[in-house]
Amino acid sequence: MLSNRDVVLCRACRARIRWALTSANGKRQPVNADPDPAGNVAVSRGPDGLLYVRSLTRAHPEPRAGEYRMMPHHATCPPPPQRGTGGGRPRTGIRRTPPSWRRP
Ligand SMILES: [Zn+2]
Repeated sequence: MLSNRDVVLCRACRARIRWALTSANGKRQPVNADPDPAGNVAVSRGPDGLLYVRSLTRAHPEPRAGEYRMMPHHATCPPPPQRGTGGGRPRTGIRRTPPSWRRP
């Protein structure tokens, strides 16, 4: 059963996501919080209470009992802006030694 307990907000786009571990190699993968009929992964809760995600394949395209069809968040997360949204300093330029560092 999916609960809101493990829903978090994506840092990049503030969407509601869940973190799941890939059944293939145990890496953390974000998936959209709500089941999606267009999704291509199946998410299930393991006996340890963690969420596990596996890819749905052409050979086995349907989730099994207890699994939910979900969308990987990477598929819908907008890419970060190419340039900083302000606040970042340009990297170019030579930093001058402040005069106070020099001895008279
Ligand atoms: Zn996102």
